[in-house]
Amino acid sequence: MLKKIFLISCCLMAFLGASLAQAAPRITKVAYGVSPDRQLRVVMETTSPARMSSEFLERELRVTVNAKLNPRINKLYVPKNAPYVNKVILEPQGSETIVRVLMKKKLSSSEYKTFNLKRDTVNKRPTRSVIDVVGGPAKKTFTPKKRSTERKPWRPSTAGSGYSVVGGISGKRITLDPGHGGTDPGTHGLVTGVYEKNITLPISMKVKKYLEEKGAIVYMTRTTDVDVYGPDATDVQELQARVDVAEDNKSDMFLSLHINASVNTSVGGYSTYYHPKTKYDIQVAQCIQDELLKTGNLEDLGVRYANFYVNKHSTMPGALVEMLFLTNRREEKLLTNNWFQNKIARAIADGVEDFYNQHRGG
Ligand SMILES: [Zn+2]
Repeated sequence: MLKKIFLISCCLMAFLGASLAQAAPRITKVAYGVSPDRQLRVVMETTSPARMSSEFLERELRVTVNAKLNPRINKLYVPKNAPYVNKVILEPQGSETIVRVLMKKKLSSSEYKTFNLKRDTVNKRPTRSVIDVVGGPAKKTFTPKKRSTERKPWRPSTAGSGYSVVGGISGKRITLDPGHGGTDPGTHGLVTGVYEKNITLPISMKVKKYLEEKGAIVYMTRTTDVDVYGPDATDVQELQARVDVAEDNKSDMFLSLHINASVNTSVGGYSTYYHPKTKYDIQVAQCIQDELLKTGNLEDLGVRYANFYVNKHSTMPGALVEMLFLTNRREEKLLTNNWFQNKIARAIADGVEDFYNQHRGG
């Protein structure tokens, strides 16, 4: 009996050793996005680089990815705004995954592409396998601004001299940027799996409401689950598109709202980041952080200097707020609670009001 068990466990270990050595890639997350020109993008996050091969059937693009699908991933997606795509079906097949894109029309080889993205250590994004499928004529009701790729990513212009900090919050033009969106989900909760992009948005909409009640004029970089530039943007294009919303609306303040993450699940708390490109940024961050700390018994990680793109390349005062940690169980629970979302939103709006109150007299 003992001998037998020993033999079995030896075999098991040999088997485990062999499979570990090969480290077959797994698909851990799948996100979908439809760009303003209605191209569908499927982004599969993988544990290591995966190979893809594709074939056409009559009205179907079939991509075989050599990565095992996490069983918790939803296997059906029906896009709303992609005119030629009916649905996407994910079929696990052993250590591979078949992605079936069912089309309303016949597809040609120039109308889709597949490619891999390397691990992005700066933005903490894993290796990704991407499928793009052609769109159609842009919807008339949605006319995103054409952005030339030749446009310089940063305009150190005099536009910034246009902002105002005096006279109270009433009439101030404030742009809110709900972090991530569309093909970029941001971080995610460990209990519910909720994406950062789906929490930054409702909180930002609540901040908008509270700021408007105080008399401010609020602009949003996004009001739905979309990429602001488009699903095929580089990180700089995407972030600059958010800055552009603030610049184009001649904003007096620009706030980007995010949720933090850590490999250490016991880490939690609020932090607010600034880049001192105006003399007001640090004060904006401090006012917001002070109000956030009143929302409960939560850690104060402080007001911090940072080189975040959106802070650095916008010309008006602003801050980037990391509203607690989605990787902390207690904070994930708070962040997914409507009542607490309101509490955070009110604190941010109060912080902005405080800042302008401090400059009432000029
Ligand atoms: Zn974020």
